[in-house]
Amino acid sequence: MSIVVNKKKNIAIIGAGAAGLVAAFYALEGGNSVTVFEKNDIAGKKLRITGNGRCNFTNEDINVSHYAHGSDTGFIDSVLKKNGKDELIAFLDLCGIPSFQKNGYYYPLSERAGEVTDLLVNVLTRKGAKIRFGEDFHEILRNTDATFNLNGEKYDVLILACGGKAAPATGSDGSGFKLARSFGHTVSFTYPVLVPLKVDQKILKEISGVRIKAKAYGIVDGEIVSSDRGEIQFTDTAISGIPVFQISRHLTKAIEEKKDVRIRLDVLPDVASEQVEEFVSKRTENYRKNSLNNMAVTGSLKELFEGIFPKKYYEFLLNQFILMQRSKPQINNQSYSLEDYNKTEQVNTAKKESVSESGIEFVRFIKNFEFIITGHAGYENAQCTRGGVLLSEMKDTLESEKTPNLYIIGEMLDVDGECGGYNLQWAFSSGKLVGENV
Ligand SMILES: Cc1cc2nc3c(=O)[nH]c(=O)nc-3n(C[C@H](O)[C@H](O)[C@H](O)COP(=O)(O)OP(=O)(O)OC[C@H]3O[C@@H](n4cnc5c(N)ncnc54)[C@H](O)[C@@H]3O)c2cc1C
Repeated sequence: MSIVVNKKKNIAIIGAGAAGLVAAFYALEGGNSVTVFEKNDIAGKKLRITGNGRCNFTNEDINVSHYAHGSDTGFIDSVLKKNGKDELIAFLDLCGIPSFQKNGYYYPLSERAGEVTDLLVNVLTRKGAKIRFGEDFHEILRNTDATFNLNGEKYDVLILACGGKAAPATGSDGSGFKLARSFGHTVSFTYPVLVPLKVDQKILKEISGVRIKAKAYGIVDGEIVSSDRGEIQFTDTAISGIPVFQISRHLTKAIEEKKDVRIRLDVLPDVASEQVEEFVSKRTENYRKNSLNNMAVTGSLKELFEGIFPKKYYEFLLNQFILMQRSKPQINNQSYSLEDYNKTEQVNTAKKESVSESGIEFVRFIKNFEFIITGHAGYENAQCTRGGVLLSEMKDTLESEKTPNLYIIGEMLDVDGECGGYNLQWAFSSGKLVGENV
């Protein structure tokens, strides 16, 4: 009778980010010897800035539909089902990090991503992990006995957890992809996603600093490819905010392919197209009622919708509306000029119809205003990488099909999720799967 003894392994993990730390935890649980190599002088430089420093680590609705991936939906689905939101919450709890949920987004109770990272590192150190900082690997060799040679040290298992290319200042500069290629892997073309998008500088000068609630549509060559609703932000250089980040996942490739890419912003999403006339007539009526003796009043389009939007954005829209009117072919000699603008748009009983008409036209205009996208803000400003190591080259355990005892996890793989905790969830799910399997 032979007795099978599970040999405890000597495991090297490259990258002390979210995925690497989780994999280390579960590999230690199996009684292995674990060394984490990190190029920075602290762990989780990116993890520390997630969720605006609050660490939105997962979401109420974790399922494969929130992820993009080169292939194999079934595999991602099974990983997320086995190691999903509940397992991540339980893991953090076990590490002394209780959490709470708000609007479907999960955060640590402390709402401090830095403290979460420090606690994870403390737990790993207590469990016996060695974490070595300032170790930047660009080449890893294989010994003749199929073990891995890291600067002369011998490891049975190698886990690559180097992240993608997003936010390279945090350490993930794509060098992990080079390591994966050296072990025979294919890395699909990558793009920055969850990234601000660039629009004309002249426009941004007028509206920089504006924050406005809207429904945003991503449009490529005239076709709506994605939409999302929430707060939009304009900066000196780009249009940003969670809806833009979400939509950027469907646009960056098209931007790089020089397609016609636009973001349409509907700043009155609760007024349906068929309700526009009613909306305008009610506003016009209220305007009239609030005037002296309900009699003839003066007022302009400018005053009619005042107070609904941030002033800066409203003035910008009015100017754009006038420009649009001016560029229209003039029919029956009717033109619309800046100079005439206040005169012709008087709200009074006599001209009620004309203001209603331009009011209706204006509301339709602002519900469909499109920004031409001139570029994206690059990996430096992105939260995630689209593309990566092909899943088709990985076994169900995330062991490499190309090199035995090599595992790849987290953002290095060709999997990316929406904003809202999906990427940290993937880092956890893939890290736990591998940590348990080694
Ligand atoms: C600003 C920002 C906010 C974000 N907010 C959220 C959020 O709220 N929720 C969410 O789910 N996701 C968020 N993300 C995305 C999420 O942080 C990443 O998807 C996730 O951290 C990826 O984990 P990872 O372990 O695969 O890679 P990383 O976290 O990038 O870790 C990789 C580690 O490997 C190290 N490394 C790389 N190459 C080498 C090498 N050659 N040698 C040695 N070490 C190396 C790096 O220094 C790094 O520490 C955010 C990202 C950014 C940039």
